[in-house]
Amino acid sequence: EGGIERHSYDVVVVGAGGAGLRAAIAAHEAGADTAIVCKSLLGKAHTVMAEGGIAAAMGNRWPEDNWEVHFRDTMRGGKMLNNWRMAQLHAQEAPERVMELEDWGALFDRTEDGLISQRDFGGHRYARLAHVGDRTGLEMIRTLQQRAVQVGIDVFMECTVTELLLDQEDGDPRISGVFGYWRETGRFVTIEAPSVILATGGIGKSFKVTSNSWEYTGDGHALALRAGASLINMEFVQFHPTGMVWPPSVKGLLVTESVRGDGGILKNSEGKRFMFDYIPEFFRSETADTEEEADRWYDDKANNRRPPELLPRDEVARAINSEIKAGRGSPHGGIFLDIASRRDADYIRKRLPSMYHQFKELADVDITAEPMEIGPTCHYVMGGIEVDPDTQQSAVTGLYAAGEVSGGMHGSNRLGGNSLSDLLVFGRRAGEAAAAHAAGLEKRPVLTDDDVRSGEWRAVAPFNVEGGDNPYTIQQDLQQTMNDLVGIIRTASELEGALAEIEALKRRAQSMTVGGHRQYNPGWHLALDLHNMLLVSESIAKAALAREESRGGHTRDDFPKPSPEWGTRNLVVRLDEAGTGVTLTEQALPEMPDELKSYFEE
Ligand code: FAD
Repeated sequence: EGGIERHSYDVVVVGAGGAGLRAAIAAHEAGADTAIVCKSLLGKAHTVMAEGGIAAAMGNRWPEDNWEVHFRDTMRGGKMLNNWRMAQLHAQEAPERVMELEDWGALFDRTEDGLISQRDFGGHRYARLAHVGDRTGLEMIRTLQQRAVQVGIDVFMECTVTELLLDQEDGDPRISGVFGYWRETGRFVTIEAPSVILATGGIGKSFKVTSNSWEYTGDGHALALRAGASLINMEFVQFHPTGMVWPPSVKGLLVTESVRGDGGILKNSEGKRFMFDYIPEFFRSETADTEEEADRWYDDKANNRRPPELLPRDEVARAINSEIKAGRGSPHGGIFLDIASRRDADYIRKRLPSMYHQFKELADVDITAEPMEIGPTCHYVMGGIEVDPDTQQSAVTGLYAAGEVSGGMHGSNRLGGNSLSDLLVFGRRAGEAAAAHAAGLEKRPVLTDDDVRSGEWRAVAPFNVEGGDNPYTIQQDLQQTMNDLVGIIRTASELEGALAEIEALKRRAQSMTVGGHRQYNPGWHLALDLHNMLLVSESIAKAALAREESRGGHTRDDFPKPSPEWGTRNLVVRLDEAGTGVTLTEQALPEMPDELKSYFEE
């Protein structure tokens, strides 16, 4: 039919989280005609759930803090696999980006001196997270969204992008636009644009227990692969140590790290503060080895080392996992997180208002009076689209990526608070580069009717099959497989099992059936998302099988130690020839300049 809705812009941003909004604002300011497309309502992006804060070495609490210390913490947290240039830009530019948010109206919590308050988080040497209670993401989204709408950026909301379109002429594929559908009506829409920025967030919905929302089906990762871009670091998935374990309906829901940053401790069923038993050699010199020293640290950082509860997330999640496996777990299969016996009730309610309500309303637990039960939950993907560190451009001309969907910045493990700052720093950079690309073109790429028709054809395919599986059963099987076989502790045989199962699920997905018609049809939406989830899951499992070592978010039972050889290599994932799966290659890590290397010499 000729009736497909069409639009044209210089820059299209897919995603309205922190990264997408910041990118759109930058592109608009650089003079580009800019639109944002998002599959949920504006203001509902995942970023809104962020609790703890934005990491930035502003030095408001500790004047000793500066970008070099933040850079060092970030690289060490990522076990040195981070793209050093991204980690450097991030540490250098984060403070400016936070100040700019304040200029745009964000209301941060304050120090006694009236500066932006900064709180403690795992892996950060100094209190560094700018925050608004435990609702930082909400304030960030509110501020960015207001600015984006105010300056006149067009928003296509509840609109899902299913294809990136390419102009293949001259043998150099370049982005020509996006194809998608309106969730409510099921009607199709194409937006022609020479620059597209993917800011679609993460992949958590491929796992059964996750802190992530329904939106996290890895769309951007899969769109990029299909357009010819590469992904890196996909084996590194972050399991946050503290998700709710009870009641079952909220299993996986996040319990912010701020609980530990503000004094909470972890205990097993014997009442033991067990994290002292799990301090790895790598962090021994900077971690307290007695409870007394750990407790003194909150008020005197200069003369004490930080509590082991604030080790990077991968360490804490593994320790909790071990305690549960050893039979020292809580009644509902978690471990205890206790702030009630450590801080008074007023302090807890003021610093952690959302946590207080979350437990009161969902679990009938008063966290000012009793401990919480928590356990690891799939939280964040370090892996993502491989980009140029300065411009965020992918391997495809005109395609950019920022935020959780991009890779490299966090290496093998992300420090808490470093995502919100990542969104701002690289969102802005992507927006500027995408606008410059569009402005510099002699000839705009061409989007043909054939491109549009093929997008349409693929999108309606699930309606043309009969008697196949329903997408919900395939999704459930995938989530169970990823949780059981590609989870927090991995082995070769289980990963091989997972890959075989993913192949079988891909076959089932080829003939899955959806009923009804295109008007608001969640089963159909899921059928389209599932292809993305399967491609991403295959990427994770393949990379996890290849990396024969344990590092950061990737733990191999059969290779329990980090290996020096693997410490110099990235795994890169690309779409295979058939276009139905992925292939892996190894790639040398970019070499850090000597000047930066000197920060790591003790
Ligand atoms: P998102 O905010 O997830 O936005 C993605 C956008 O893409 C959405 O608008 C979505 O609708 C859109 N989208 C996706 N697919 C499509 C598609 N196919 N078509 C159209 N639109 C699409 N990090 C910190 O630094 N500090 C914290 O305190 C913190 N707390 C957290 C708490 C929780 C509970 C969770 C889950 C995460 C937390 N994180 C935190 C991590 C951080 O919130 C995320 O990594 C970050 O918000 C991701 O932002 P983003 O802009 O990349 O994507």
